[in-house]
Amino acid sequence: MAYSYLRVGGAPEHRHLLGTAVDNSLFIVGEATATSAPGTMHGAWQEGVRAATALAPICGTVAVVGAGLAGLGAASHLRAAGRAVTVYEAASSPGGRARSVAWRDGHVLPGAMWLHGDRDHPLTPWVHNTGIPTVVGTWGDDHDPAGNVATFVGGRRLDANEIERLVALADEFEEQATAASEPGDVVLASVLDPWLDKQTPDDRAVLSAWLLGEFEGIFAADARQGSTRWRREPYVAAGEDAMLCGPTASVFEQIAGELPVVFDTPVRAVRRTDNGWRVDTDAASHDVDGVIVTVSVAALDGIRFVPALPESHRNALDLIGRGREGKVFAVFDEAFWSPLPAFVSAVDGCWLQTFVDVSVLVGEPALCGFAPHRYVAALEAADDDEIQSHIARAMEQVWAHAAARREHG
Ligand SMILES: Cc1cc2nc3c(=O)[nH]c(=O)nc-3n(C[C@H](O)[C@H](O)[C@H](O)COP(=O)(O)OP(=O)(O)OC[C@H]3O[C@@H](n4cnc5c(N)ncnc54)[C@H](O)[C@@H]3O)c2cc1C
Repeated sequence: MAYSYLRVGGAPEHRHLLGTAVDNSLFIVGEATATSAPGTMHGAWQEGVRAATALAPICGTVAVVGAGLAGLGAASHLRAAGRAVTVYEAASSPGGRARSVAWRDGHVLPGAMWLHGDRDHPLTPWVHNTGIPTVVGTWGDDHDPAGNVATFVGGRRLDANEIERLVALADEFEEQATAASEPGDVVLASVLDPWLDKQTPDDRAVLSAWLLGEFEGIFAADARQGSTRWRREPYVAAGEDAMLCGPTASVFEQIAGELPVVFDTPVRAVRRTDNGWRVDTDAASHDVDGVIVTVSVAALDGIRFVPALPESHRNALDLIGRGREGKVFAVFDEAFWSPLPAFVSAVDGCWLQTFVDVSVLVGEPALCGFAPHRYVAALEAADDDEIQSHIARAMEQVWAHAAARREHG
């Protein structure tokens, strides 16, 4: 699954430009235009509300394309403002990239898994209403790669001194990256990869897992194209970082249940008319005063705009990358990693190195392994045996640690 990042030459202002109204009445919004929290659920929802707030005073009828966070946020606001709104959703259910999927006797979250700040998060009331459990603070609430996450390398767990030394090395990378991106921005990999190559094998394994886990994992960026200057955009809001441990599908069904959403109805074209806009689906055309398109930047290719989007929007789109992050959910006979809520198992070249305990979500001992952008294509092309061998490589050193701990009582 994908979410946006800034490519070299891009800046938050390009997210802003993409989200600027066309002819005052067509908006393209979603996580990719959320300058204050790109790539997040709350950022997407806020963008939907922003567009709806602008259209509500001037449009009697509005079409919203997509029933993800941005679309649901936009439609809820328009509905509350008494506007006639219809949401067209290509899938057969709401939630987009944040929707849970039933798996075995529990659930998995292939996309969004954390409320990055649960205090004013738009989903917090719904999560409480539906009784979805959350686990707070497994990840740490800052960008410190050590955080409260254990790291294993070479068959052992790093102690506090080693972590401190490696965090200092990671800080050195930060200085180099900042210097390299001034005055002109450069691709992140041109700084990161040669710097990693200079480290000792064990240090490289750890630093690569930490830094790829952050830049290609948390920010989903393709380091070969991503901006060094904007390698870290804001995403955390007020409150705790709370991991969702239940079927978010039920949250989205409740939100969408109060709204006029038409499912299984992809929008093919958005056309300017004399009086407003015409939205084409396979079955019909719908004339409206305003349109809010909330599909991902990748899915925008599937919609024809007539006339074409303004040059400023197209330029902005070129500078917003389609980042990718892979997730693998795996169940085990026992939670041998317990009580660790999350850990990094640094093995050079292993697709999966960052793991989070998702037993509550899945309903049995389970981990979610994260693959940074560079490994996603290989992961997607692999069969189960190959994926299991990557998991086993990553787990070996955790198993060894768990066995040693048992032996010593
Ligand atoms: C792997 C992964 C992990 C993530 N982790 C987190 C996290 O932990 N916390 C967090 O806050 N965020 C996370 N995110 C980001 C978060 O999921 C997104 O920012 C957010 O869900 C995007 O919402 P949106 O409304 O902008 O887009 P979407 O959710 O993509 O909604 C767009 C909707 O439009 C529909 N659509 C597409 N084309 C058409 C069409 N032609 N006509 C009609 N409908 C169409 C789609 O089916 C979809 O339902 C993660 C994302 C991914 C991929």
